[in-house]
Amino acid sequence: MTPSTEPGPSTGIRISPIPAFQDNYIWLLERAGHAIVVDPGDAAPVLRVLDQGKQRLDAILLTHHHADHVGGVSALVAAHGAQVFGPATSPYAHIDVRLREGDRIGTLGQDFSVLEVPGHTLDHIAYWCPALEALFCGDTLFACGCGRLFEGSAAQMFASLGKISRLPEKAKVYCAHEYTSANIRFALAVEPANEDLIRRRDDCAALRQRGQPTVPSTIRLEKASNPFLRCAQATVQAAVERRNPGVGRDEVKVFAALRVWKDGF
Ligand code: ZN
Ligand code: FE
Repeated sequence: MTPSTEPGPSTGIRISPIPAFQDNYIWLLERAGHAIVVDPGDAAPVLRVLDQGKQRLDAILLTHHHADHVGGVSALVAAHGAQVFGPATSPYAHIDVRLREGDRIGTLGQDFSVLEVPGHTLDHIAYWCPALEALFCGDTLFACGCGRLFEGSAAQMFASLGKISRLPEKAKVYCAHEYTSANIRFALAVEPANEDLIRRRDDCAALRQRGQPTVPSTIRLEKASNPFLRCAQATVQAAVERRNPGVGRDEVKVFAALRVWKDGF
C-alpha cells in the first residue's frame, strides 16, 4: 500500500489510498481497529489491507454507480457486514442508506455531509467531512481535471464543480483516479503560462517518479491550476475561443467546449 497521509487534525484518523485496477484509488479511513472505505471497485485489495491491519470494516461510502466504484461491495459486506451508504437516485441496488443533498451521516466517529454533484453520472454524490477537512468526490473533480460527462449535461457538471469549489481553500480533495499527469498535459495546452500549473507539473512528475500518488490535492491548488475550475479566467476563455470561434465568455459554454476538447485530447 502507498504511504498514508497524516492523521486528520485531532481526529486520530488516517486516510490512505488502496490502489485498484489500472488507476483507481479506494480511500481507506481508519482508527482504532475500525475502518471505512470509499468506492471499493474491487474487494480483494481492501480485504488484504483490512486483514493486515486487523481492522473491521464499519461502512462503505459510494459516490456513484460505476463498476470500478461499486464492484467490491458485495464481497466486502459478506466478509464484514459493513453498512453501505450511497446516492438516493443510484441504479445500483446494494445500498442500505440512500442519501441526498444536505444529508449527514456519522461513521468512524466523524460527521460527513452529502453534496449532490451530477454530471459524470446523474446519481453522483460527494462526501464532505469538516473535521478532516476532506472531500471524497469520486469521478467529479479530479486532480487538475474533471470526470467525463456520461449522463449529465455540461451545465450540471459546471454547477457541481462550482459547489465543490466553494468549500474551504485548504480542504483536501480525495478523488478516485490517478489521472493527474494526463490532466496536467491538457491543462498546459490550455494555459501554458500558468505558473501554478507549471509548478504542479514538476511536483507531480517528482511524485510519480517515486511511485507515489499525486492526490489528495487541495481546493486552493485546483482553483489555481485546474482549467475546469477556471472558466472565468481570460486565459482559459481565450484558449477555448481560439479553438471554437464564437464561444464567447459564457462560463457554461466555455466549460462545455473545454470538456469536448479534453475528450479528444
Ligand atoms: Zn465513474
Ligand atoms: Fe471511475
